[in-house]
Amino acid sequence: MILEAYSSQKRITKTIPLQSDLVVVGGGLSGVCAAITAARSGLKVILLQDRPVLGGNASSEVRLWSLGATSHMGNNNRWSREGGLINEILLENLKRNKEGNPLIFDTVLLEKVYEEENITLLLNTAVYDVEKGDDNRIKTATAFCSQNSTTYVANAPLFCDASGDGIIAFMAGASFRMGAETKEEFDEGFAPNLEDYGNLLGHSLYFYTKDIGKPITYTPPSFAIKNAEELPRIKNFQLGDHGCKLWWVEHGGRLDTIHQSEDIKFELWKVVYGIWDYVKNSGKYPEAANLTLEWVGTIPGKRESRRFEGDFMLTQKDIVEQRDYYDAVSFGGWAMDLHPADGIYSKHNSCTQWHGKGVYSIPYRCYYSKNIDNLFLAGRIISASHVAFGSSRVMLTCAHGAQAVGEAAVICKEEGLLPRDIASKEKIGKLQLALNRNGQSIPRLSLEDTDDLAIRANIEASSTLAFTGFAAADDWQVLKFGLAQMVPLKANETYSFEFEVDALEATNLELQLKSSSACSNFTPDVIIDKKEIDLKKRETKNHFYNY
Ligand SMILES: Cc1cc2nc3c(=O)[nH]c(=O)nc-3n(C[C@H](O)[C@H](O)[C@H](O)COP(=O)(O)OP(=O)(O)OC[C@H]3O[C@@H](n4cnc5c(N)ncnc54)[C@H](O)[C@@H]3O)c2cc1C
Repeated sequence: MILEAYSSQKRITKTIPLQSDLVVVGGGLSGVCAAITAARSGLKVILLQDRPVLGGNASSEVRLWSLGATSHMGNNNRWSREGGLINEILLENLKRNKEGNPLIFDTVLLEKVYEEENITLLLNTAVYDVEKGDDNRIKTATAFCSQNSTTYVANAPLFCDASGDGIIAFMAGASFRMGAETKEEFDEGFAPNLEDYGNLLGHSLYFYTKDIGKPITYTPPSFAIKNAEELPRIKNFQLGDHGCKLWWVEHGGRLDTIHQSEDIKFELWKVVYGIWDYVKNSGKYPEAANLTLEWVGTIPGKRESRRFEGDFMLTQKDIVEQRDYYDAVSFGGWAMDLHPADGIYSKHNSCTQWHGKGVYSIPYRCYYSKNIDNLFLAGRIISASHVAFGSSRVMLTCAHGAQAVGEAAVICKEEGLLPRDIASKEKIGKLQLALNRNGQSIPRLSLEDTDDLAIRANIEASSTLAFTGFAAADDWQVLKFGLAQMVPLKANETYSFEFEVDALEATNLELQLKSSSACSNFTPDVIIDKKEIDLKKRETKNHFYNY
């Protein structure tokens, strides 16, 4: 039994001091990848995550698809899937969880972290304070776990902020930006018109529905909006849409996305329950009779808040022109994807996406604070303009860059360096090589690895099979719009392509042979040759194209 007498002094909660080589704040995909990478090379890592599961926006609490340079094959960067640790995680997830159950993905991530003996994982533990060693260094991060009423004081020579809002970077005084730059500052034509389009991307909240096999009625909570049919975006809704298909249920870009986050979430709850009221009770969706709400998010997906300044700031031109820098350590390929600040209430399209012609590289100098000497940055808070962040913010790009942070921390420990020191021309090669050896390719960067035995190995095959082509499929495709087939070809060879077309109407068919303007891209932006063929109605023609 515990019996404590009255105390006129305030009591303090149990406090545990912790010591490590690296403290990672935030257990989204970025924090997880930074922590595992460093731990696998022997660093003692403390991973502090304020919520009960890992994964951040990819967790079962929020349920976003993790995307990266390939945009789920929605753009031309088809062969640009991120390698390294995030690939290992995704392959494991694919093996166990090809249906994409977010609860299973939580366990895949948790297992990966749990298996690392060098990681002290503290879930439900929110960092709320920092102590500085001097003007430019963080000494400790303090966090509280409400589940065990314990305060942790985490001490380390190196810190990584992967918290999405940049909690320790902010408290330590690191310079940051929030909101869109003007077009003039970085000569960015895609910078939004602030009054009309807005400054920040908003939050979104998802829901899932379930067919229970018999009709079910729905009474909305009194706070649900009553006019869902007037939402400009409601026309986007189709019965059966759930999860990420509801990304357009967005709000808050005109508010303070950090300090008004709870207000934004509440507004999104009003909208979600109002939409469901409209679906169930307006009479316009009779097929929804057996449907019930199975899950509604309680934590909104937050798209944008602070972006911290590194020694380099990624901008639109770096992405569009695919500029390469000596310290490239990662890459992106998602579109520069901006959203109107008015979100679900906006008259604009739900998003504006500008696709580059190929992947772009991200310099190491984006991954550490320019003012706080022992602070790495990972995730959506890295040093990028608002426009460039529109692309670099997707989770596989975040995770890939975070692996570079984890590797850089290892070199810092081995050589007694600080994050900035690794950006030197002498040191960066070591980091790039370490990343490459761990499966992380860096676009257009060829590295000489003298220890790579594969280069000198003799490879023999016990048998061979020559590729003679694919057989044509039986089903016909109606050419409602231009279609293309991408094929890898060798230089200085002659190729022949065959098409079989059947004209439903007399028409004129244009054929184009295209290539990419840059050899590392797959965007067919250069026309090498073109031909026109007149077809009569119902004429079937085999057409050969030699090149
Ligand atoms: C609605 C929406 C749709 C999107 N769609 C996609 C998409 O389809 N695909 C895609 O790849 N990206 C998408 N994005 C972008 C992407 O989700 C984010 O940019 C990305 O999650 C950023 O990664 P992060 O690791 O920086 O942050 P997060 O994933 O948010 O992770 C940060 C983690 O830090 C933790 N944390 C925060 N504060 C503290 C603290 N004080 N102490 C301890 N821990 C803390 C949080 O709990 C969280 O787990 C979308 C974003 C939103 C909001």
